[in-house]
Amino acid sequence: MRAMLLDAPHTPLHLADLPIPTPGAGQMLLKVSACGVCHTDLHILDGELTQPKLPLVLGHQIVGTVVQSSAGVHRFQAGERVGVPWLGATDGTCRYCLRGQENLCDHPVFTGYHVDGGFAEYTLADERFCFPLPSTYSDIEVAPLLCAGLIGYRTYRMAGDNVETLGIYGFGAAAHIITQVAKFEGKKVFAFTRPGDTDAQEFAIQKGADWAGDSTQMPSDKLDAALVFAPVGALVVAALKATHKGGVVVCGGIHMSDIPAFPYSLLWQERMIRSVANLTRQDGEEFLRLAPQVPVTTDVKVFPLEQAGEAMEQLRLGQFTGAAVLDMNLAQ
Ligand SMILES: [Zn+2]
Ligand SMILES: [Zn+2]
Repeated sequence: MRAMLLDAPHTPLHLADLPIPTPGAGQMLLKVSACGVCHTDLHILDGELTQPKLPLVLGHQIVGTVVQSSAGVHRFQAGERVGVPWLGATDGTCRYCLRGQENLCDHPVFTGYHVDGGFAEYTLADERFCFPLPSTYSDIEVAPLLCAGLIGYRTYRMAGDNVETLGIYGFGAAAHIITQVAKFEGKKVFAFTRPGDTDAQEFAIQKGADWAGDSTQMPSDKLDAALVFAPVGALVVAALKATHKGGVVVCGGIHMSDIPAFPYSLLWQERMIRSVANLTRQDGEEFLRLAPQVPVTTDVKVFPLEQAGEAMEQLRLGQFTGAAVLDMNLAQ
């Protein structure tokens, strides 16, 4: 099969001819039709996440159809379409798993990190961690829901129920999805982008934001909560300055540059900073039920498999709006 392979951090992905893998206990073999590209893939490429399997097939927003299952696997039938997220498996036995916090599992298996992911024609997945996908979406459209959507949704939920004004810092794949959910739930949305990124600001307005501007600006209304999707620590301080008393700043990414020192007065009055890690299957099920009701639409820039590296560099530089998705059926 064709796969884009990462041999080591800081080296370019290259096309490789790999054997089609054989499903082990509990696993299904999937024919991949689409796979989303995520900032986390960049953090792995850049060596900021330090424990990848190597060589590695990246990609954890996988849409595929079941080709073959190992004995005893029957949650999905051959030919059925499924989604594979970042949380590929857990031990099911650690204190976090037992407390309903499987996103914090001590021995997780992350897709496209500990095991090969979806930048390939075929992949393996643990059936217990796959999702059925809403039929109203095409393979390409639904791919970004599997990380930008799911983990974006967990980030949004952590803002709490008492939110009228919501700030979103970094307007990429997660933000364009979560803005639609927030508007559906009646929130006022302020979108903050890299200074001068008028394309992203226009895009934010188009996706329903009430206001869009530079991350250096203060919103006209104070924020009840701010979601930080860009991996830039200084935005945490900017967001804190913009929040009401009792407000929360939620960091949605897996890696971030250092947060600069700031005066305690910014945190005083019960303001909070928190992170969000990974997802639970419950997050996925809830969000995939909600998305077609909104209905969330995704704006996608499509690349052929062979251009996975190019897609990642364009993501790094913010050269497109919305989400990048590899289409396995697209010829280079
Ligand atoms: Zn991701
Ligand atoms: Zn666990």
